[in-house]
Amino acid sequence: MRAEPFSVGYFVVAILAVVFLQDFFVSSRHTEALAYSEFKSLLAAGKVSEIAITDTAISGRIAASGLDGVLPPERVAALGKLSGTEHFFTTVKVDDPGLIAGLDAAKVRYAGKIESRLFATLLSWVVPALVFFGVWAFFMKRMGAQSGLLEIGKSRAKVYMEKQTGVNFADVAGIDEAKAELMEVVDFLRTPERYRRLGGRIPKGVMLVGAPGTGKTLLAKAVAGEAGVPFLSLSGSEFVEMFVGVGAARVRDLFKQAEERAPCIIFIDELDALGKARGMAVIGGHDEREQTLNQLLVEMDGFATNKGVIIMAATNRPEILDPALLRPGRFDRHVTLDRPDRNGRMQILEVHVRGVKMAPSYDLAAIAARTPGFAGADLSNLVIESALLAARKGRDAVEMTDFDEAIDRLVAGLERKNRVMNPLEKETVAYHEAGHALVAESRRHADRVAKISIIPRGVAALGYTQQQPTEDRYLLRRAELLDRLDVLLGGRVAEELVFGDASTGAENDLQRATDLARHMVTRYGMSERLGLAAFEAPRGPVFLAGPTLPAAREYADATARAIDEEVIALLDTARARVVETLSGRRPALEALARLLLERETVDRAAIEALLGEGAAAPAREAAVDVRPTPRPAVA
Ligand code: ADP
Ligand code: ZN
Repeated sequence: MRAEPFSVGYFVVAILAVVFLQDFFVSSRHTEALAYSEFKSLLAAGKVSEIAITDTAISGRIAASGLDGVLPPERVAALGKLSGTEHFFTTVKVDDPGLIAGLDAAKVRYAGKIESRLFATLLSWVVPALVFFGVWAFFMKRMGAQSGLLEIGKSRAKVYMEKQTGVNFADVAGIDEAKAELMEVVDFLRTPERYRRLGGRIPKGVMLVGAPGTGKTLLAKAVAGEAGVPFLSLSGSEFVEMFVGVGAARVRDLFKQAEERAPCIIFIDELDALGKARGMAVIGGHDEREQTLNQLLVEMDGFATNKGVIIMAATNRPEILDPALLRPGRFDRHVTLDRPDRNGRMQILEVHVRGVKMAPSYDLAAIAARTPGFAGADLSNLVIESALLAARKGRDAVEMTDFDEAIDRLVAGLERKNRVMNPLEKETVAYHEAGHALVAESRRHADRVAKISIIPRGVAALGYTQQQPTEDRYLLRRAELLDRLDVLLGGRVAEELVFGDASTGAENDLQRATDLARHMVTRYGMSERLGLAAFEAPRGPVFLAGPTLPAAREYADATARAIDEEVIALLDTARARVVETLSGRRPALEALARLLLERETVDRAAIEALLGEGAAAPAREAAVDVRPTPRPAVA
């Protein structure tokens, strides 16, 4: 609803002006309000000349002189100040049967008057109605602008465009691996022609995966900043609208805008809000999301990479995303941002204290040591909070005690969010992961350990051990599978050795170990007792979401029992081997766990330094290869 020349608003103002003017005009003629008794006295004294009578009032004129004795002296004085020989008066009519006789006796000219009600009527309800209508119209206009009712698709979508993000890689600390992975994207955006000429393949979509506050938005902005290209961002939740079709129109619009500005970056925050797997029915309203998601897929497919537009998206729940989003040509490059380890936290703190006046004795390493579980955003908060505390105390520099106080406050909040492990849990996780790693390093056929971490990742994993395959494998020999079994059991066995007790932390390991052992028996013919018979067909790809029906069993009950026994036997012998390995290398286990507790993540170099090169089985090719394709980590 546009404001037109004759809109309701103007009309209301005009009415009010008329009312006001009339009021002003009427009251400019002085009218004395008299008590009825005063009127009667004046009438009796012959001072009233002419009156008009309505239902409720009597008005008319009275003489201006000779009032002494008729009215009280102060009334006479007041009237005497007015100019003219006559004054207007009005009085409230009372039920007085003698009035007409009195008027006749005084020979006053009188007339009944039909009261003009129009004005009162206008005031009493037309004006309020108009005002009400005006207010309503105003709000409708507002809402109309937001709901897209009138301008569907013409994207007022909150696409935030930044010509220059002003952020670059120097502002992003502690996540060097992620930065390195994105360097290629920066290169491409800087000189798209070069890539075009060479016909090089460049990722279209990059998915940044990480917990809230780990710097996903910051990193995407830094890529735009480094490349000097515009940054178009919006949030997945903003796509999902009330009206079917609006979100899809916004997607189309967004890509059109991006094309006009290429080279540039599109950043979609909270992709999971939009990209939840289709068919995960929510009651009502997922039609719209599905349409929007489909449109996004269509746009991504129709987008030639060489246009110079890179789509980056952030999520902290990659597991719920629609698989279609992750297919080649879409978000096929994943960059994981973990919460920083101790060293990373120190680097992030360094970035954030740059603009803060710190007392000379400050010690970022000590702060980093006290803040396990803090993500980048928490650290940035910490610096701000400490500065505020210092300011409140009237200091002119931030001291360590301010940091201590701020940490205590923030930790309480993070504990509620379950992001801080207690020391015993942490120790358990450290020994568990050290167990996996040490077994892997002790086995001839296991992949070398690239990184161990005790920083919680995702929903379940409290820590992880990442192994680096040295080559792509299509065939695995029995000895290799047995080594894998050992590595999977390494965590649980280490816990038992060190603490004399087990924890729930090995659940996923045991699941995987059991699956592996079962496959060895039922599919790979690797059990001597059961021979070469394949008892289970490999499962085909799952087309339908939801639980698959268990395949009909094609063997006797006795065989089923034998299979179970063989699986248990495989696991038991594996456990015995692992117990032997870990007890034999107990000092190394202790040292590795302690290093983990201190640093939170331990990389290949530190492992080699600790265990001594070749401490493991014969080293194969260098682990750090061109494109890492890490195998799913052992948790
Ligand atoms: P996310 O998008 O992952 O939720 P943000 O990128 O919005 O997190 O991070 C919020 C803020 O936290 C950033 O603006 C920055 O100040 C700080 N921050 C997060 N990670 C880092 C980091 N690696 N280095 C420096 N600052 C960081
Ligand atoms: Zn484990």
